[in-house]
Amino acid sequence: MTIAFTTFDKLYIDGTWVSAGPERDDIINPATEALIGRAPVGNAVAAEAAIAAARAAFDSGIWPHMAIAERADYLRRMHAALDARRQQIAALIVAEVGCAQDVTHGMQVANPLDHLLAALDHSTRDDSVRLPLDITPDPFNPDGPKKIGGTTVIREPVGVVAGITGYNFPFLINLAKIVPALLAGNTLVLKPSPFTPFSALLFGEIADEIGLPRGVLNIITGGPEVGAMLTSDPRVDLVSFTGSEGVGAAIMAQAAPTLKRVHLELGGKSALIVRSDADVARAAAMAVAVLSVNAGQGCALLTRLVVHNNIRKAFVETACTIASQFKIGDPADPSVAMGPLIRESQRAKVENLIATGRDEGAKIVHGGGRPAGLDKGFFTEITIFDDVDNKMTIAQEEVFGPVGCVIGFDNDEEAIRIANDSRYGLNGGIETADAAKGYEMAMQIRAGSVMLNGGTGRMSYAPIGGYKRSGVGREYGPDWLHEYQNQKSIFYPVGI
Ligand code: NAD
Repeated sequence: MTIAFTTFDKLYIDGTWVSAGPERDDIINPATEALIGRAPVGNAVAAEAAIAAARAAFDSGIWPHMAIAERADYLRRMHAALDARRQQIAALIVAEVGCAQDVTHGMQVANPLDHLLAALDHSTRDDSVRLPLDITPDPFNPDGPKKIGGTTVIREPVGVVAGITGYNFPFLINLAKIVPALLAGNTLVLKPSPFTPFSALLFGEIADEIGLPRGVLNIITGGPEVGAMLTSDPRVDLVSFTGSEGVGAAIMAQAAPTLKRVHLELGGKSALIVRSDADVARAAAMAVAVLSVNAGQGCALLTRLVVHNNIRKAFVETACTIASQFKIGDPADPSVAMGPLIRESQRAKVENLIATGRDEGAKIVHGGGRPAGLDKGFFTEITIFDDVDNKMTIAQEEVFGPVGCVIGFDNDEEAIRIANDSRYGLNGGIETADAAKGYEMAMQIRAGSVMLNGGTGRMSYAPIGGYKRSGVGREYGPDWLHEYQNQKSIFYPVGI
């Protein structure tokens, strides 16, 4: 059976489907290694055409000049078109990413659609500011009558945006570029990961269906060369990137000669602090569930388990028991809780880091290898290390696999010090029976978000992003569009 969206063989540029040339990428299902489609491969010619189309649509088109409510209408229709395809999008993500179905339906499909609705809600707010009238001396006639004048501060789109995205939550990340860029009045060239081209190209179908003006959204595929063009071309004003720390730093450098604005959502090595008063069974279950999300391929997962030494033994035993009950396999089976890693290269990276952890003296208490009986696909076991020193490689590097490091502590100050001893600062968690103490500790964590006792709340409405090397800027939240806007102050005289 052909999976929806896997037959796209052209790129979406200037409102039409454009042939990318003869080259095709075989896109495989990471759980079965079966071919799911042959994707068009974008090149320099495609990048040039896409940038030119986005530039023309911004400079001469109507999109930047529409009222935000009009653009919101388009995005409301986009939401409806995507909503109607939920099942097909989920089936694509299961096959393209190898993500388990529960996680796919919730985090990969429902959450991004909620983010879109939240952005539409926020877009009804008038962000322009009218400053009070001011009386000032006339600079050209200081002894003459004074002047009275006012100031209005408005927000305008930045221009042409290049959105460059990673593979792990492709629909979510692509939508997180499209929504703010377009709603704010920019035009966009979107380039997804070469592993997940179809989760991006599907937006061409949506753009056609909702009648998006041509050139507003352009979708091209390709690898780092295409990404390098998008991030260095003087016609691009802003780069919005979600991916690894190293590529994020490279993009900043590539964008520097043309002084682009750069928005970066990068990696993490987030800490879950489990205090001695925590419900050990609940904390351990949560820790394993979070570790296993998308086989550990999540930027904000809590992979350092900073556990009070009084309860560490019980925590580790419970976590291992729970991990051993996880069903690993092809997520086409809805009872599977964890699928594979994206490719063999990613599995090799994970296995190398596990070997380094062992060599540096950390103790594997669960997993460490490949699950039995799965000969095809890039599967790995849930791996839990105990006796981890936070200085070890396994505690400092982003593994991007289902690997947790248990690090002991004896008091709250030490726990916070360990949590903050990381070059990353994306997310964090605290498990405790003393919620007020947990809140105080949350304020001391140097990270863009903290999940206190599992964390609930209006997540679609909250800003997300990194401290330190986890990123620059924020996605979502009430000020999301500001990342994609310039402020302009208009000064005017009152009277004559
Ligand atoms: P990656 O950095 O390898 O690739 C991301 C994108 O960058 C791809 O489209 C790739 O083709 C492109 N690219 C590579 N080199 C480039 C260059 N020199 N110039 C321009 N573009 C270039 O990331 P990945 O492995 O696909 O994704 C996983 C990473 O993304 C992890 O580090 C993860 O933590 C991070 N991530 C962060 C968030 C967040 O919100 N903070 C969300 C998801 C993933």
